[in-house]
Amino acid sequence: MPLRTPEEYVASLRDGRRVYYRGERVTDVTTHPVIARAIDHASIDFRMAEDPRYRDLAVVTGDRGDQSRYFSTPKSADDLLARSRLIEAATRLGATLVVLVKEIGTDALFALGNVSGEVDARSGSSYAARVRAFHDRCASGDLAIAVAQTDVKGDRSLGPAELAARGNPDAYVRIVEKRADGIVVRGVKTHTSCTTNVNELIVLPTRAMSEADADYAVSFAIPVDTPGLTLVASPHGGAARDAFDHPISSRHKMMETLTIFDNVFVPNERVFLAGEWQAAGPLALAFVEFHRFTAISYKLPLVDALVGAALLLADLNGIERAGHVRDKLSWLVGYAETLRALVEASATRFRRHANGTAVPDPLTVNIAKMHFASNYHAAVARLQDIAGGTLATAPSGADLEIPEVGDWVRRSMLGRVGTDAVERLRALNLASDLTASDFGGYQEVLAIHAEGSIEAQKLTILRQYDAGAARAYARDLAGIEG
Ligand SMILES: Cc1cc2nc3c(=O)[nH]c(=O)nc-3n(C[C@H](O)[C@H](O)[C@H](O)COP(=O)(O)OP(=O)(O)OC[C@H]3O[C@@H](n4cnc5c(N)ncnc54)[C@H](O)[C@@H]3O)c2cc1C
Repeated sequence: MPLRTPEEYVASLRDGRRVYYRGERVTDVTTHPVIARAIDHASIDFRMAEDPRYRDLAVVTGDRGDQSRYFSTPKSADDLLARSRLIEAATRLGATLVVLVKEIGTDALFALGNVSGEVDARSGSSYAARVRAFHDRCASGDLAIAVAQTDVKGDRSLGPAELAARGNPDAYVRIVEKRADGIVVRGVKTHTSCTTNVNELIVLPTRAMSEADADYAVSFAIPVDTPGLTLVASPHGGAARDAFDHPISSRHKMMETLTIFDNVFVPNERVFLAGEWQAAGPLALAFVEFHRFTAISYKLPLVDALVGAALLLADLNGIERAGHVRDKLSWLVGYAETLRALVEASATRFRRHANGTAVPDPLTVNIAKMHFASNYHAAVARLQDIAGGTLATAPSGADLEIPEVGDWVRRSMLGRVGTDAVERLRALNLASDLTASDFGGYQEVLAIHAEGSIEAQKLTILRQYDAGAARAYARDLAGIEG
């Protein structure tokens, strides 16, 4: 039966992978104090499949028997909605942090499934069969997958070949050798989430390529223990922390890496694009069409948490009836519920690919992502305003226990008459972890950049909108003939 237990997932990560953390080689990621937190967080996807409360959502029965829903290619609006609900439920269990070890990888598999057939039809390659075989392998092995799309890029105003001509050839991953049995790749990807704790890594091009960039038009998958692959993990958010003071980030974490390909050999059956430069842009876009839908689905618990914390603290601070507070609360509710409505609309307005796959409506998805990202900091500001400065100055939970000052500390944290001081401190710690800790900063950067920058969403919105119809309507209203 292709479902792994959380223990089997964890055991599969002990494979000699080459990981560095703060200048030291990590010999076993599963026992590393920081990476183990990320592994426990990622295990949520495997625990849900075993949990009777989530099993119907997390598991589907298909040709392979029971398998994780993530690997099911969506064929309808209902499939997309069920996928979205699964991502939302997993993120809720992750206390607002996406799990991602199956979500992003299957986004890439769906995109490769849609684009590889078109490449084959144009160039006589056999990528579609390879993608299908790899998809089957991932589903039947219940594998955890990371996706490395973003290259380090260097000077953003130059393309890959132009950069190589100016002495920076490794800013984008490229093919350095084509052999009869495969390709050799070199270069560096960045910001790759979960790489330390997945089984497979899918590599996609990050942008459209010109003919001169053909060597950079490359897509493939490799196991994380492949020789030549090195992961340099970011220490961001890695400090040890107390569960009372940091109710979310003490238990939940993702790891990001610089992902270095130092002449890595990839066998042919794992190569999905190798030089067909015209397909690099469409593949990059096909991935984000699915991945931004994943993003807006996993943002829902985060925006709900901002609303909930603001409501809680408005009450505990005794300011619930104040006009400016009601104004901020209604703005926050509108922000969160607009996102939820757009997620549903993205699924119900889906477009069907020629192969039958349901693709979330790119126009609605990008509007949803832009709505979320461009208002996120304003939402944080409203919660911070309602909470007060204690977000950045609160005493620790340990201070409550000191005989000399514990009672003073407790009474200092009192809010509305009749409410509990420790409950108020817990609510403040939640808001602080969400908005004023390194985890809060991580969420802010994630909002702006992950799944593509806000500018990328604007480009897609303008590209996808039916400007001709809108212009024709305006011409008609204005009485302009022809
Ligand atoms: C926490 C986190 C997790 C992530 N996880 C993953 C992951 O798992 N896999 C993955 O592949 N990626 C991942 N990303 C990467 C994410 O998709 C990128 O951050 C995003 O695409 C922006 O790229 P960048 O960070 O290189 O910023 P840049 O592209 O450098 O953007 C900085 C600014 O420069 C502008 N800019 C860039 N190029 C140009 C240009 N040519 N002309 C004009 N303006 C330009 C941008 O619009 C932006 O305003 C993650 C990012 C974060 C923060």
